[in-house]
Amino acid sequence: MKTLVLASNNKHKIDEVKQILNNYEVLSLNDIGFNKDIIEDGKTFEENALIKAREVHRYLIDKNLEYTVIADDTGLCVNGLNGKPGVLSARYASDHDDKINRQKVMEDIDGKDRSAYFKCVIAVIYKDGIEKTFSGITEGKIIKEEIGDTSFGYDCIFYSNDLNKTFGEANKDEKNSVSHRARALEKMKNEL
Ligand code: IMP
Repeated sequence: MKTLVLASNNKHKIDEVKQILNNYEVLSLNDIGFNKDIIEDGKTFEENALIKAREVHRYLIDKNLEYTVIADDTGLCVNGLNGKPGVLSARYASDHDDKINRQKVMEDIDGKDRSAYFKCVIAVIYKDGIEKTFSGITEGKIIKEEIGDTSFGYDCIFYSNDLNKTFGEANKDEKNSVSHRARALEKMKNEL
């Protein structure tokens, strides 16, 4: 089985990636002993995904570990908010407090176009240093209250056009059948 390092310690992301890439062994940052904070100061999802992947690729080279690295940068883009929170999704109102960030989106969207999409960019750095990015989107709208599981980001306020329910209500298989992350990873799989 091929091994990949996912440049993340986000439990939900890791679970989803493991389920989608079920033919691979997926290691997290904890698994490889990486514990530095990565500053994601890029202006696009592509830039931020590459920032994370490059930092982890450098760490692996220093440790003489030969793994392909993948990094996921994701955000919610709301049309009535001109694409916000976008790359600021993790810190729209409060750094990494999903509940407060969701609250701000629901307040800001009042009276505006509620259509939205998630965008996920996967950056890959192969053992030889070659870099590639793959993106996936999924469309829906922002609802007025939280419905379903509130534990992962904006899932419980995002009503999926494909599933006719929120991502918070969807089970893992349902979300992975239409999600931004699954669509980006499917493109990547074809080139691994
Ligand atoms: P990052 O890609 O880890 O920087 O995540 C940015 C923000 O989007 C964080 O607030 C995450 O909780 C949220 N997020 C990332 N992926 C998803 C998803 O699949 N569903 C809902 N929220 C997500």
